Amino acid sequence: MPPEKNSLLFGKFCFDPEKKHSTKNVFLSHAHADHTNFLKKSTIHSTPETAEIAMKRFEGRANGIRFEKISFGEKKKFDGFELELFPSGHVLGSAQAKIFDTESGNETAITSDFRLKDSLLFKGAKPLHCDTLIIETTFGRPEYIFPKEEEVVSKMIKWISENSEKGLVVLAGYSLGKAQELTKISNEAGIVPIVHESIFEVNKIYEKFGVKLGESLPLNHNLKESSVLIVPPSLVNKYLFSTLEYFDKRKIFSAIATGWPDFGGQYDRVFCLSDHADFNDLISYVKQANPRLVLTDHGFSEEFARKLNKLGFNAKPLSRHQQRILSEF
Ligand SMILES: [Zn+2]
Ligand SMILES: [Zn+2]
Repeated sequence: MPPEKNSLLFGKFCFDPEKKHSTKNVFLSHAHADHTNFLKKSTIHSTPETAEIAMKRFEGRANGIRFEKISFGEKKKFDGFELELFPSGHVLGSAQAKIFDTESGNETAITSDFRLKDSLLFKGAKPLHCDTLIIETTFGRPEYIFPKEEEVVSKMIKWISENSEKGLVVLAGYSLGKAQELTKISNEAGIVPIVHESIFEVNKIYEKFGVKLGESLPLNHNLKESSVLIVPPSLVNKYLFSTLEYFDKRKIFSAIATGWPDFGGQYDRVFCLSDHADFNDLISYVKQANPRLVLTDHGFSEEFARKLNKLGFNAKPLSRHQQRILSEF
């Protein structure tokens, strides 16, 4: 069989596949689309929350996919290794994985997408002590240092309150993760938001697992019932704005919540709200985990590895251009 591209393998396991794969067993850290796009005909090991969100998103194309649920704190034995999951503070059900190689005794931690500080909805991730750390470095550059979330949230509440009196507030955030924070923030501003169907589905799953967001109404020709509308950024363009203006007549005030400051463009405001670790938190995670080897993954992985080298860590980027088997490192 030719080697699979862009896969991180451990034994017969593939972690968060990023390309088509033929592995029967897959570990899924969370249900964001960049992690679920290549799940096909396999047994997927994930937390119960991730399984529930992913199944909702797969409706109609779940052929041959089977979920095997692993709860936080439960140790699962597989051929050659043990797996334990820990919360990663990123979205509902998101998990870091710790792998104990039963042959070598080596411990590997894979953070996948994580947030170190507590967020509006979740406790931050706890750094995992390990020999080898595979850390997700989306914001691995010193210019990405996020402001305190409480400050951003109180600015948002003020902005939403003021503008919802003058017109229709349109908030953009990914259907899984950001949109639930926006639902909560809107409720804290005293307004039950109308949300896009894809967001409403995920909101229901959050509530089912005990994460309190407040109320939300699914979008259904009912715009008049609220002064806040929450939509995924993929739907925001000038046609959306002109359609809203045509049917609704209210002036539109738009904002996006994101960790990327230059995402702005078509929005009136950009609020820095991220479900990832910023640069300082990435450094802090590595120091606390204190591994012998760090492999940086995604985003500014090369720059961040060089920064870690300067701090005395043995670090290198995890190239996903070829098959990587963890025991190779
Ligand atoms: Zn993610
Ligand atoms: Zn991701």
